[in-house]
Amino acid sequence: MVTIMSNSTDIKKFKASLRGELIERGDPRYDEIRKLYNGMVDKRPLLIARCVNVADVISAVHFGRDQKLLIAIRGGGHNGPGLGSCDDGLVIDFSKMKGVHVDPETRTVRAEPGCTQGDMDHASHAFGLAVPAGIVSTTGIAGLTLGGGHGYLSRKYGLTIDNLLETNVVLADGRFVKANSSQHQDLFWALRGGGGNFGVVTSFVYRAHPVSLVYGGPIFWDVKHARRVMQWYREFLPQAPEELCSFFGLKTVPSTAPFPEEIWGRKICALISCFIGPREDAEVVMKPIFGELPSPLFKHVDTMPFPALQSLFDPLLPTGLQWYWKGDFVKELPDEAIDAHLEHAAKAPSELSLTHLYPIDKAVHRVSRNNTAWNCRNATWSMVIAGIDPNPHKAKEITKWAKEYWEAIHPFTIGGAYVNFMMEEGQERIQATYGENHARLSAVKKKYDPDNLFRVNQNIKPAP
Ligand SMILES: Cc1cc2nc3c(=O)[nH]c(=O)nc-3n(C[C@H](O)[C@H](O)[C@H](O)COP(=O)(O)OP(=O)(O)OC[C@H]3O[C@@H](n4cnc5c(N)ncnc54)[C@H](O)[C@@H]3O)c2cc1C
Repeated sequence: MVTIMSNSTDIKKFKASLRGELIERGDPRYDEIRKLYNGMVDKRPLLIARCVNVADVISAVHFGRDQKLLIAIRGGGHNGPGLGSCDDGLVIDFSKMKGVHVDPETRTVRAEPGCTQGDMDHASHAFGLAVPAGIVSTTGIAGLTLGGGHGYLSRKYGLTIDNLLETNVVLADGRFVKANSSQHQDLFWALRGGGGNFGVVTSFVYRAHPVSLVYGGPIFWDVKHARRVMQWYREFLPQAPEELCSFFGLKTVPSTAPFPEEIWGRKICALISCFIGPREDAEVVMKPIFGELPSPLFKHVDTMPFPALQSLFDPLLPTGLQWYWKGDFVKELPDEAIDAHLEHAAKAPSELSLTHLYPIDKAVHRVSRNNTAWNCRNATWSMVIAGIDPNPHKAKEITKWAKEYWEAIHPFTIGGAYVNFMMEEGQERIQATYGENHARLSAVKKKYDPDNLFRVNQNIKPAP
């Protein structure tokens, strides 16, 4: 990769063209500003353009392209392999573009790409609305949306991209376009799952839904019941009403409040649930969880505002932890797969390391596989195995654990993984994820970014 160090006059001109700030390596704030969510990734860009409007973004794209700089686009900076930044290149940073506009009449939300999940939930909750997206409030909505976006509302209302109505995009040649169901339809198709490959998105318009108070929270069982709970869960959840989303976890109880001290450090299996609707209905639908399974070790299930559920895990997952994660799409959970899960989860090297199975069914299945770039709609779950620890000295250990665990489970999966749960794993994995949509994505890439200017991502190469 060729990186040309711009001369100071070029940089000065670029700086003067921006309303936002340009952070260079000598800036005392450089190290703080370049930090990514994953503490395992340490990238040192040449320049960070903290854009405040579309004009800044256009200027940054022109500058980066003309200077032959590697360009990274940073939304929330939460990406596992740190694809929101790059070494020695230009970062187009959206951390100052956090505007959210909610229109309660049309039930739509327009959000800028620096917004976190929490920013969007906060703004829409005031109107009794929510946009289907992720489950942790600090995650950036830009990368999450462009990769697909699944969470508590997906079973009822679909993926985040199924609720995306329009995007504004700055293309590789600096043009500004609108992509929606009638303008630049090919681009709009590709942006819904194809990641940051096609241009710099400067705003997203979403359909929002009436979600305000929800009933839910975590329930833990001792790991000795995990086999039974998993077998039960694989039958129960797919036939449960779509108002209920329960994701499954193999975890360790963190040694911290609010968990009772007597269960700190205990290996557990968990169901973390969200029911969209009144408590009385939730109690009926969730009754089998309490009636058919052993008594839980811990439960915190109640009525709460949706943003409260969305930020339940924030304190456990601050910025800067070491993360190594691997994903896969899962259609079925045979007993052999459950055994492999239990064997490897038992060896988790830290309290925060986890496995989650997120439901991908109901409304997600109602959209056809070639309707958006997101191909794996025949899956039942999106799985993530994440080695997580605050201590950088444990980076190797958590990585080894996640890789070995994944090797054991991969034969039971349908190939391909949610792009937002992948490290940098090569073209084969990307092609497996997009399946029959990959060729079409390459053609759209060729049309909108023929020189692969935007390649700091799960890269789709332009068609030859
Ligand atoms: C704690 C945690 C919880 C998570 N929970 C969920 C979940 O519940 N559901 C879910 O679906 N995912 C979840 N994720 C995964 C999440 O979707 C990805 O980490 C995603 O990349 C985050 O987006 P970001 O904007 O923060 O990423 P960044 O690191 O900023 O960017 C990621 C990628 O998106 C591209 N990109 C970012 N902004 C733009 C833009 N404006 N225009 C074009 N390309 C852009 C970048 O080029 C980069 O390739 C979670 C991640 C973490 C760390």
